This record gives sequence, C-alpha cells and structure tokens, in this order.
Amino acid sequence: MAVIALPKYVTKVMKGLESAGFGAYLVGGCVRDMIMGKRPHDWDVCTDALPHEVMALFPKARPTGLKHGTVTVSLGEGHVEVTTFRTDGEYADHRRPDTVSFISDINEDLRRRDFTVNAIALSLSGEVIDPFDGRKDIADRIIRCVGNPRERFQEDALRMFRALRFSACLGFAVHEATYSAIFEMSHLAAFLAAERIREELEKTLLSPNPHILGQVIEAGLMDSYLAGSGGAVPELKGFGRLPKNNEQRWAAFCAILERGGLISSSEAFLRQLRLSGSEIRNCGEGASLALNNPPADSLGWKRLLADKGVEIAMCTAAAADVLYSSGSLNVLREVLNSGECFSLKQLAVTGDDLLALGFSGIELGETLRLLLDYVIRFPEENERERLLNLATGMERSHIY
Ligand code: ATP
Ligand code: MG
Repeated sequence: MAVIALPKYVTKVMKGLESAGFGAYLVGGCVRDMIMGKRPHDWDVCTDALPHEVMALFPKARPTGLKHGTVTVSLGEGHVEVTTFRTDGEYADHRRPDTVSFISDINEDLRRRDFTVNAIALSLSGEVIDPFDGRKDIADRIIRCVGNPRERFQEDALRMFRALRFSACLGFAVHEATYSAIFEMSHLAAFLAAERIREELEKTLLSPNPHILGQVIEAGLMDSYLAGSGGAVPELKGFGRLPKNNEQRWAAFCAILERGGLISSSEAFLRQLRLSGSEIRNCGEGASLALNNPPADSLGWKRLLADKGVEIAMCTAAAADVLYSSGSLNVLREVLNSGECFSLKQLAVTGDDLLALGFSGIELGETLRLLLDYVIRFPEENERERLLNLATGMERSHIY
C-alpha cells in the first residue's frame, strides 16, 4: 500500500479508542483511496465501541447518525466519522435498514458494505482486514457487490446508482453479475428519494467518465424521470471535455436528453430531481437557448451576456458544445477575457449620470439599454464623454 501519512487528528481518534481497549479501523473510501495511492478526502473509522462510549471518550463528539451508530469526532483541524460495527436488519423501504444491531465482529460489519473495494479495513498498526478480496478488485479495477448483487440491490436500491457512480469516478468496470443485476433490479429505483438520486447523478456527471450516465439510462434507473425514449440512449461523448462545473454539465445533459426526446422540459426534469431554484433557472434556460437559439458569434454571446448574465451564458455555451461541438465555451471565454463591456455595471456612464442630465423613469432605463447595446457593438466607444454626448441627443441617432 502506498504510504500516505494520516492526519494527526485521525491518528489521535484511533489511538484514543485503542488505548481505551477498543478496536479502531479505517474503512471504506479512505482505505480504497490509500490503496490506490490517492489522498482520501474524508476519514471513516469503525470500532466496537458503542456510540455512547465514543461520546464519553471525546468530549467534542457529536451524534450525527446515532440510529446507525455514527458519531462525528472533531479534533482541531478536522473531523472523523466513527461508526460502531453493525449489521443491518430488514430493509422494508429498499433504502434504509429498519433496525441495526451493534456487534463486535468487524468481518460482519464489512459484510453489510456495498462493494468489495469499499469493504476493506486498516488498523493503525497496518493490519488489513479484507474478507472479500477488495484489494484484488482494486488491482483489477472492478466494482463488485459484496455478496449476492440482486439481494444487495433489493435491500438498498441506491447501491445501483453507487455502482455506476464509482465506476465513473474511479474508471473501474462493473463486474458482470453486478452489472446484470442492475438491469434486473432497476425498477426499485422508483422507491428512492429524488435528492439521493440527484446526488449520485451529479457525482457521475462531474466524474472523468460522465458518459456512464448512458448506462444509468440504459439500465432503466431513470425511468421514473424520463419520458419514453424508444429505447434510444443518447450519445454522451463530448461531456468529458466540459469544465467540472455542475451547472454547465447539468445544462448539457438536459440539452442532450431534450434533443433525444427523453424529456420534454429541462426545467421540469431538474425540478423533479430537486435541484435548487437558481440551478433550475440557469441550466434550464441554458439548455433551451442552446437547443433553440444559440449565439453564432462573439457579438451574439455579448448580447446573451447582457440579457441573461454570465451563469446562463456559460450553461448555454456548455450545452451548445455538447450538442454541436461548436467551440462555444472558447468563444465565450474570449469575450469574458477581452474586458469588453456587456453589462450596465461596465458601462462608462451610470444611471446617476443620466439623472444629472435630466433623464428619469422609463426613458432613463431605455437610454441606458440603448447605450449598452451600442457599446456591445462598438466596444471602443465605451467612454464617458462619448456616451454622454450620445445620450443628450447631440448624436442620438447613432445609438439606434
Ligand atoms: P467517497 O469517495 O464518494 O466518499 P466512500 O466509499 O467513502 O466514497 P461514502 O458514501 O462516503 O463512500 O460511504 C462510506 C462507506 O460506507 C462506503 O465505502 C461503504 O463501505 C459504506 N456505504 C456507504 N453507503 C452504502 C450503502 N448504500 N450500502 C452499503 N454500504 C455503504
Ligand atoms: Mg466517503
């Protein structure tokens, strides 16, 4: 295993548990990442200490998922999620166990975890517990369920999205039996909360392999959100080249789905998936502008910037790039970097200037807009005197 130094706060928590006589193991994503030589982004520890025993050992511990045995211990510069070894009871809702039981055997805890690559534990002394050969699957770059995939998806349908998400994020293949079980059990996705699905889709969308969303669709995991596609799964090839920006990628995804007839309204689709109001607006409008009326040149992009602002323009350009390979993001970036004026904020005159000249009300607003449009067409004319002259009517005909 690559040597990755543990942050001090992680070592402290594990030592604290061990010196009180408990077992303490790193587990899940952090172990998987360390084996792959990557720096983990968060740290999960599992232990045979019961949640109240963890709380008693660390005064700053907060119960963050007590029902499932999770306590968050914050120490100085970071925090660690400490979860008591457990087995899960029945899953009546295809998402969360109805009950959990705390246990003392780590192997049993690893058995309830989703994939072999996520079911490896590592102690401070370097002891590795890997009952499902997760290290081999990491070496072979395979996502494989722990145990019987159909049963595991029956218990928790979110694991189907997680399998494809890990495949996209890590660049691993999904093992055959796990993959075919996703197709068989995909109808259970209907039981999942939209927020959970959104999170997984977004991680897949932002991964190095967003085209895996094609497999998500093909498997039927999004059937509750898509209109009849006639079985056609759209090409998602150009996605990997887009910036890792969630609005831009959602806009492009929506545009592709809308063009393929899989959704009829991007906004309604995003609302169903519970994106935020501003995301729905920016991505929805970006997708629809790209589909119906994408700017053709830098003047067009400046006009769009003036009309709709930077976020919507970026979403439009990202969607246009994926729809038409148009190089729109590059053109838009050039416009943004040029420093040329596309908003009232950048205009060399202000509303107050026009007020001082005797403008007011609708006429003032209208004049500002005319000046902005003029400057968008003639960037070198964005000078105060010049614009004031135009406004006062000496050369007013120029701005029409
Ligand atoms: P990431 O890098 O995305 O954080 P991760 O593996 O840490 O990856 P988490 O969602 O943070 O994923 O979950 C931590 C661990 O908890 C997983 O590695 C896995 O062992 C277990 N786990 C999480 N969700 C599930 C689930 N739905 N079913 C079974 N085990 C799960
Ligand atoms: Mg994690």
